[in-house]
Amino acid sequence: MAVNIQVFIYFILISIRISTRAISLPAELSDGIHSDPDVIKAASTDYGHIISVKPAAVLSPSSVDDIKTLISFSFNSNSTPYTVAAKGNAHSVWGQAMAAGGVVVDMLSLNKNGNGSRIVIAGNKSSGFYADVGSEQLWIDVLNATLKQGLSPVSWTDYLYLTVGGTLSNAGISGQTHRRGPQITNVKELDVVTGKGDLVTCSPQQNSELFFAVLGGLGQFGIITRARIVLEPAKKRVKWLRILYNDFAAFSKDQENLIAVGGASYQNAPDYVEGQLLMDPNTNLEFLPPPDRPKISSLIKQYGIIYFIEVAKYYDYSSPRANNTVDKELKWLLKNAMSFNPGYVYQADVTYLDFLNRVHPSELALRERGLWEVPHPWLNLFIPKSRIFDFNNGVFRDILLKNNFTSSLILLYPAFRNKWDDRMSAVIPDEDVFYIAGFLDSSGYDNWQVFVNKNDEILHFCDSAGIKVKQYLGHHESKEEWINHFGSKWNTFQQRKAQFDPKMLLSPGQKIFN
Ligand code: FAD
Repeated sequence: MAVNIQVFIYFILISIRISTRAISLPAELSDGIHSDPDVIKAASTDYGHIISVKPAAVLSPSSVDDIKTLISFSFNSNSTPYTVAAKGNAHSVWGQAMAAGGVVVDMLSLNKNGNGSRIVIAGNKSSGFYADVGSEQLWIDVLNATLKQGLSPVSWTDYLYLTVGGTLSNAGISGQTHRRGPQITNVKELDVVTGKGDLVTCSPQQNSELFFAVLGGLGQFGIITRARIVLEPAKKRVKWLRILYNDFAAFSKDQENLIAVGGASYQNAPDYVEGQLLMDPNTNLEFLPPPDRPKISSLIKQYGIIYFIEVAKYYDYSSPRANNTVDKELKWLLKNAMSFNPGYVYQADVTYLDFLNRVHPSELALRERGLWEVPHPWLNLFIPKSRIFDFNNGVFRDILLKNNFTSSLILLYPAFRNKWDDRMSAVIPDEDVFYIAGFLDSSGYDNWQVFVNKNDEILHFCDSAGIKVKQYLGHHESKEEWINHFGSKWNTFQQRKAQFDPKMLLSPGQKIFN
């Protein structure tokens, strides 16, 4: 018995040694390297609360040089190199910013002073305005800083507490994408520390291969440390309409008409177009005036699904003329681009900041109820327009409605392929118009698998029906699935990996090469 206990203790010690000391790190970073349990725990989790993977250590860099030193040391090491994952605000849902047994770089610590010193606004009216922004900055901070000078970035995500580096590694999409392109197409220049530890400035004109690789590159080619973001003069207010439909054909036709206005008549074009589904008579109705909720609940019961379009136009309230103009433009849109039922239009008039930061109040409410830090088995898809009716029938009606997955937040809105840049790493369907769908479920810790199974069923349905969807922010379990995801871009992706991160050190949590 005594021998067995000794053996048991020996194995415990060995495994602790393995989990904490399997790597050697540059001595000059010792002040910024942490491996205490709380720090390791924080780096082992994300917004998904499904995957948990422990790094050996976390670096809190105090400068870009620290990141260079960390990566160079691993790249030049004669022994087994360690992997490195930049962690922005850890709002991935499938462990993408984790590094099993490697080093997580806590990018937020570059902003230790929090004084906005890494947001520098420059440019002028004739050549255009821009902001040089540390990649660790949250978009909400970029917005606040630029608004102080009457300026604003042009392309957004729905939620702003995400880092610039995190969204540029994916695409950065929202209701502005149809008109302004994703965030990755609104960047002029980047500083990147490559997988060899080199700090490289890149743009479409200079080191362009790295520039295009990194945008939508899932952290595979380098750690972005600075981005030059396109700005324009900011409007002050937003007219924000929600228009309800019981018929999918009318809903999708109106959405497509709305985004097409940009081409026909720019002045009238909406600044933002999104859409959502209502499938549960008691959920996601907060935007409706309370007296109308029973009426809409009964419509949901009657039709199974009520769809609504969100459309917004920015305007300047400084003159009554601006207010009149925006009202005229909205009227024009409703008359010329839409076939809605006039009984179901809901209008709000909010500040530009409140509109862009519209998810934050829900976050605060969910946090208060302990419902923010819970599992998020999300699925985000890009769907070719030609198959959107099949998708509606097969997924929304047959999988979700029939199996009672009705209370999650489901987004659906179209975008144009030609607003994306095919030289970048991000992958979209091969059609001029595609739809963006988000299945944004929250679950308990004991039932997230049910939602994952539902997501798998959706993917399986698309596969067997020949609907060539692409996952956004997705996770794939095997290299074959990634190769399939990248399709014709795979060879370039792989070559760029060999060029910029030949030892495959970066963002192992994406599970593409690791
Ligand atoms: P992290 O999760 O920390 O990192 C994501 C990936 O990027 C990891 O692989 C990481 O290693 C890598 N990475 C991070 N920083 C860098 C860097 N500086 N250089 C290179 N690689 C880096 N996305 C949209 O497009 N539109 C939306 O409307 C939207 N809404 C969202 C709402 C919520 C509530 C949440 C939780 C997410 C949403 N997302 C949306 C997804 C979000 O854009 C991505 O999850 C993004 O990665 C989050 O940024 P982050 O700073 O938390 O990145």
